Amino acid sequence: MISPGSFAAPMTVDRAAHRRESDHVGHAHAVVIREGTVLAGADGLHLVEPGGWSADALVAYLGHDGERDYVAVAAEEGAHAGEEGAHAGEEREFVPARALLGALDAHPRGARDRDLVLTATAIAHWHAAHARCPRCGTPTVVGAGGWVRRCPSCERDHYPRTDPAVIVAITDADDRLLLAHASYWSARRYSHLAGYVEPGESFEQTVHREVAEEAGLALTGLEYIGSQPWPFPASVMVGFRARAVSTVLRLDQDEISDAMWLTRDQLVERVRDGSVVLAPRGSIARSMLDAWHGDGAALTRVQGD
Ligand SMILES: [Zn+2]
Repeated sequence: MISPGSFAAPMTVDRAAHRRESDHVGHAHAVVIREGTVLAGADGLHLVEPGGWSADALVAYLGHDGERDYVAVAAEEGAHAGEEGAHAGEEREFVPARALLGALDAHPRGARDRDLVLTATAIAHWHAAHARCPRCGTPTVVGAGGWVRRCPSCERDHYPRTDPAVIVAITDADDRLLLAHASYWSARRYSHLAGYVEPGESFEQTVHREVAEEAGLALTGLEYIGSQPWPFPASVMVGFRARAVSTVLRLDQDEISDAMWLTRDQLVERVRDGSVVLAPRGSIARSMLDAWHGDGAALTRVQGD
């Protein structure tokens, strides 16, 4: 199961940067990405065998796990890369990467496939958004096995970027958890407060600012608990927990339309009666909920995901 500490160990796939510009790329198995979706089969992530993907597609080298090389292949919209090789009765389809992450949670190859999906999604998003040089506007050229875009005009190299965002599980003196609903979320979705790091801030300063702005709360005992890549489209979520100094909420109604303090039993009851929908399995928000609640399987049962 993914926990806030699940990403603390080395990545299961060695990124092996020295292999990026070699013929290992041609012998690699491919994670196929199309418009934020990933090619999957009934058994989770579907890897397309060497030769089964188009060499003129956008390819980024993902790494080596001691057994195989892996690449991300960005399929054009409407392309069917990898699907045509399916055997009779074998279903393959493009599914949202976020949905696949939840399904990988309990899979035996879950950690490897999770790392491949997250990196492939991140790098494909970055390429899609950086076709032109941000300095001079010239179309850029892919290099370094998909890890650089070079500008042929001003000769700058542009590297993939990740935007840090903080998320914080806030409890009160009775260990009740604060759950908030942001006005732009789907109905009944409740989660922890979160926000993007602004230039010039430490992660901790971002937590204090966001929580003060969104809920009017001061925090104590702020503690880092783990991070998780979240390439939808380009974030790494940095997880904290903290204690609120008081329970009096002053909500920024533009961003946070509702918030409440819940005991464990109250949370389960709200999920059961449908008035609260939790963040999906596979997200750091959910693993932070599980860690606070103490029985993630119970939350999965009651939410039915
Ligand atoms: Zn340029």
